[in-house]
Amino acid sequence: MHKHICKNCKALFEGRKNRLYCNPKCKTAFNNAKSEVKNRYYNETVSEIKRNRKIVEMIYLIFGSAILPKSILHDTELNFGCITGYTENGNTVFGEYVIQHPRQSQFSIKKIT
Ligand SMILES: [Zn+2]
Repeated sequence: MHKHICKNCKALFEGRKNRLYCNPKCKTAFNNAKSEVKNRYYNETVSEIKRNRKIVEMIYLIFGSAILPKSILHDTELNFGCITGYTENGNTVFGEYVIQHPRQSQFSIKKIT
């Protein structure tokens, strides 16, 4: 018999060489906690992408494809860290909307149909 420390509850227990948990309940609890952390990260990322898309949609509904000052994007706290992708020419995609950068200080939004 080998002595172990349970990966979940940190209790000392004896068992086969490769055992990690003091009992099956601890194994389940540990794995559930692990996937909860993973899912939380996934869900937060998805909500941030949805929030960004909503912001771009709101700007588009108000201004259409007009050329606008970039300060508008800063005011809305659009997070360029959570995007859907980039177009071939480096424009940023948020769902069905593309933010185009005609000039350094300006942008416009195009809707992909
Ligand atoms: Zn345990």
